[in-house]
Amino acid sequence: MRELVVLGTSSQVPTRTRNHNGYFLRWDGQGLLLDPGEGTQRQMIHAGVATSKVDRICLTHVHGDHCFGLPGVLSRMAVDGVEHHVHLHYPASGEEVVRALVAVAGGGVDLRLHPHGAAGQVADDLEVVALEHRVETYGYRLTEPDGQTMLPDRLAAVGLSGPDVGRLQREGRFGDVRLADVSVPRPGQRFAFVMDTAQCSGAEELAQDADLLVTECTFADEDHELATAYRHLTAGQAGALAGAGGARTLVLTHFSSRYPDVAVLADQARARAGTAEVTAAADLDRFALPPRRRPGAGS
Ligand SMILES: [Zn+2]
Repeated sequence: MRELVVLGTSSQVPTRTRNHNGYFLRWDGQGLLLDPGEGTQRQMIHAGVATSKVDRICLTHVHGDHCFGLPGVLSRMAVDGVEHHVHLHYPASGEEVVRALVAVAGGGVDLRLHPHGAAGQVADDLEVVALEHRVETYGYRLTEPDGQTMLPDRLAAVGLSGPDVGRLQREGRFGDVRLADVSVPRPGQRFAFVMDTAQCSGAEELAQDADLLVTECTFADEDHELATAYRHLTAGQAGALAGAGGARTLVLTHFSSRYPDVAVLADQARARAGTAEVTAAADLDRFALPPRRRPGAGS
């Protein structure tokens, strides 16, 4: 199962209807908790996400709305007796803040710290790309490698079964049978996470070919001067990322508390989002990854 559970959608300060930022990505057997703002522990209860499901915690940067939930979540993990090790990724310049937050939690979790100071791969299929905010910030992208889907009728026709199929998959050929004869390409899926940033090439890179793209959408288009001053995206800029990158599903979040109705922001994003399906997220919304792209169909 692959789905995004939105735990919170407010930037800077929570509101009566929006918690601070927070997201849980369920990706087959692994769980990623992204940018746990204040109140994330309780939002996980509302969403039915158990702390035992979290294998990896990813911080884009160390502003409070993206990490003040960390001590609560870690404490709760200790209370819940989570035994597996938990990886924590964060920008290297946030080391002091992260260590303080972890210290407040008081231990009891087998936590592995992974600071990163440059773009690149930080775990299997998981990479970070630099964004442009007021402090060091990185977006995340999870990329499933492309694969092949085996076709049972073709396998039966050539008389292959059991371990021979595994060997064919590994070696690309088994006797006279080529892998391409009995399978079709299976495009890997991509999840991309673009938080606090000005427009930049890193955000564009992350959005490229994303099946599910989550972007900050702090300001409406008419407040573009504020967006520029504080290094955030406007709704139109968020939409344009999805449009230019051919992203399929765009989830907008991290709204300024000044907008009581974010439907307007969704419209502004939609106007520039190309064929992407655009939603302004509410707390506790869930988004399934869309069905796989058809092989060779591009976007
Ligand atoms: Zn923020």
